[in-house]
Amino acid sequence: MNLKPILPGSTIGVLGSGQLGRMFAMAARRMGYLVHTFSSETDTPTGQISDREFTASYDDRERVQEFARGVDVVTFEFENVPSSTVEAVAEVVSVRPSGHVLHTTQHRVREKTFLASHGFPVTPFRHVKSIEDFRESLRELGVPAILKTAGFGYDGKGQSMIERIEDAEKAFAAMGQQEAILETFVDFEREVSVIAARGLDGAVANYGVIENTHHRHILDFSLAPAHVSPSVLREATEIAESILVELDVTGVLCVEFFLKSDGKLFVNELAPRPHNSGHLTIDACVTSQFEQQLRAVCGLPLGSTEQFTPSAMANLLGDLWQAGERRKMGHLTARAATTAEALELVRAARESLTSGLRIN
Ligand code: AMP
Repeated sequence: MNLKPILPGSTIGVLGSGQLGRMFAMAARRMGYLVHTFSSETDTPTGQISDREFTASYDDRERVQEFARGVDVVTFEFENVPSSTVEAVAEVVSVRPSGHVLHTTQHRVREKTFLASHGFPVTPFRHVKSIEDFRESLRELGVPAILKTAGFGYDGKGQSMIERIEDAEKAFAAMGQQEAILETFVDFEREVSVIAARGLDGAVANYGVIENTHHRHILDFSLAPAHVSPSVLREATEIAESILVELDVTGVLCVEFFLKSDGKLFVNELAPRPHNSGHLTIDACVTSQFEQQLRAVCGLPLGSTEQFTPSAMANLLGDLWQAGERRKMGHLTARAATTAEALELVRAARESLTSGLRIN
């Protein structure tokens, strides 16, 4: 493998063009890199601050390769880029993390199968391809269980909770009878995540444990450091770093966990990229998760993950604005002497923003 660092002045390609790509592009430009972005849309959050925005279908192999020829390395900002697009890019220039990481993490069954086969703790699950599979799986796992589409799901979309066997057939039909995963419901106390990174040289680093609360399936607040025992901290960060190694990731990975009241951890989901729960690293840590992604994909040494103070992040959704859609528009981060104080500050800041908007 070519371990020569890609230095400032070089051009980074980003597949995808949302707000994660925008924050990545800001980190890259701040470090002196140029950024090209590729997606099927135009005038995008990432494109607006990139040096070049390519707008074409992900299936347009010619345009994809033209984009690839103009950059020194390619990364991605969301995991639903088709595998064929990544393969077309990889014929021209390095993609980091590589296509196999994307392939595993963009499909829930592949992801959970990878985790279980490497000994990482996951809730019991079954691959559901037909109504017969589904009936059989439900008999084996029992209720309550959660049925999720195998691919292209996020923020709780394409999911349904099955509390009674009688509701099962309806839930499967409502999903359009597509390929799915059935999981045993985890009676968790809290949801936490670990953002970790692995450099091109194999060095790993993590930002500790972050505690997350959701509202209507969308991340609402993140607090760091999470109030967890030293053994949970050790286990969660060790799991995250081992996943980076076993999955052979070059870049940032977020591992989302369920934490039960007895301290037991289950991996729920992986995101092979900077993650919403890590946005507080921008203001609270020496190196943000976006700069860390850049450092990893460029083969630079990873930056320090040291956190200056406890902090809390609140998401801003589009429905803050009049007639706005319920989608992520931005976030606020507060720093304070304790996470409880930071949470109070960030909650008040968000509320003042909403009441201000209502008055206007
Ligand atoms: P996901 O899209 O897999 O991250 O799921 C969205 C949310 O649904 C999670 O943040 C949990 O709150 C809940 N959830 C998903 N899977 C399970 C499970 N197996 N047990 C309990 N809650 C779950």
